[in-house]
Amino acid sequence: MYEDKTLQCRECGEPFVFTAGEQEFYQLKGLLNEPGRCPACRQQRRTRGAGERAPREMHTIICAECGAEDQVPFHPHNDKPVYCSECFERVRVRH
Ligand SMILES: [Zn+2]
Ligand SMILES: [Zn+2]
Repeated sequence: MYEDKTLQCRECGEPFVFTAGEQEFYQLKGLLNEPGRCPACRQQRRTRGAGERAPREMHTIICAECGAEDQVPFHPHNDKPVYCSECFERVRVRH
């Protein structure tokens, strides 16, 4: 069974609760990493990211690099790795 866990947000430094339900969800999705940000910061990043370009249909993806869930404005192809906005920047710099 899962128990609520308190994690620290790496964005604002505030502690937040990684609930049992969320842990189960992560487990179901096969995500090994715990969330690095509190819900407020996650929401803020999402809102900010979406505001940069014209609203388009968003697709939920699982980052091939860190396993985080994110949304992308394009339709992901199965034969290509997709990254969250954070890893995308890193990958782009690397290549
Ligand atoms: Zn935060
Ligand atoms: Zn990532």
